[in-house]
Amino acid sequence: MAFPSRYPPDLIDAVVQRVADVRAVKAYGAVTTVARQLNLDPRLVQKWVTRANAPVAAQPGSPAAGSWETYLPPGLLYCRFCHQPMSHAESPDAGQAYQCQPGCRPRPLDAATVADTVGRAILRHAARIIPSTGTPTPPLLAAIHAHRVLARVTIGATASDITLTWRATPVIEPAREAERVQRVAAARNLALSDPLRARQLLYDSLTGVDPATAPADPVYAEAATLLAELQLRLGHCADAIAWATYAHASTVHLYGPTHSRALRALHLHAAAHRRAGHHQRAYHLYRQLADQLTRTEGPHAHRTLAVQATTALVLHALGHCQAARTLLADTITTHRREHPGHSATARMTRHLSRIWRDCAAKGHQHQDT
Ligand SMILES: [Zn+2]
Ligand SMILES: [Zn+2]
Repeated sequence: MAFPSRYPPDLIDAVVQRVADVRAVKAYGAVTTVARQLNLDPRLVQKWVTRANAPVAAQPGSPAAGSWETYLPPGLLYCRFCHQPMSHAESPDAGQAYQCQPGCRPRPLDAATVADTVGRAILRHAARIIPSTGTPTPPLLAAIHAHRVLARVTIGATASDITLTWRATPVIEPAREAERVQRVAAARNLALSDPLRARQLLYDSLTGVDPATAPADPVYAEAATLLAELQLRLGHCADAIAWATYAHASTVHLYGPTHSRALRALHLHAAAHRRAGHHQRAYHLYRQLADQLTRTEGPHAHRTLAVQATTALVLHALGHCQAARTLLADTITTHRREHPGHSATARMTRHLSRIWRDCAAKGHQHQDT
């Protein structure tokens, strides 16, 4: 990552404070966690923390020649008046500042104020790219991520008079990409034994990904599928729906609607809506799934019939008792014939009896009774 060699003291203080905040809730790995979240070199963060905790401020030597402190990644800032890039300058009061072409502005602009304005905008509009640690992120730390979400920062007359040009999708650093893949793999292995840890890994790997707008991506799609499965299991329907919707659209785009990954995501999408009580939406998704399975595995395959049986249950939930009973009874007949001895037949039959009892209990007068 093209980032300068030196950071301003107040930014370093904020990073050290964040490490302390994380340490308060987490015994190990605070430095690594914060470094990863802020896209900083862990060795650098460790150095800052060590220095901050040292009894005497040991800062041998002065910064290397040509290195300068900065708050924002370089190359982002432009002047609204001369349209030239704004770069680092010394401000009259010895603080850090940004300046454009000689002769354009009467004086340089205070760098900390510019970073603060940018950081606040990121926290307001793109907070997802910064993982939450339970404590508010200072704007200066949010500004470290500016290049990931902003294509350009245009600066007007004052340090708070800025116009932001947002990127369509956040930039992901290649190093983070490899980490994401590893985390998704780890989450896959932990999904059954430690679902909460697996969920945290998935959230980490999906940092910066908005399921409503993110483009199709194989790693995100896999992470979203696993996360939707976990959230469904843990009873968080709304989250399960959001990620299943993304996983479904993404896998269809990447692999086609009949690929096993797309079918798995579609199944999750349907199940999440059903669990949330969105029976109409669930009905259409289960129908779609049954159609795809009929095409890929055949109309009498076990999976096709199982989905058909679930569709019948959704129909019943929608109040279409007769249609539900007819569909379920037909499905049971076919399943018994095509898969003799399969335990699912008995399960389907129990569901059918339950529907009958339910209709009787509610005093439904159906013609076929
Ligand atoms: Zn200018
Ligand atoms: Zn009924």
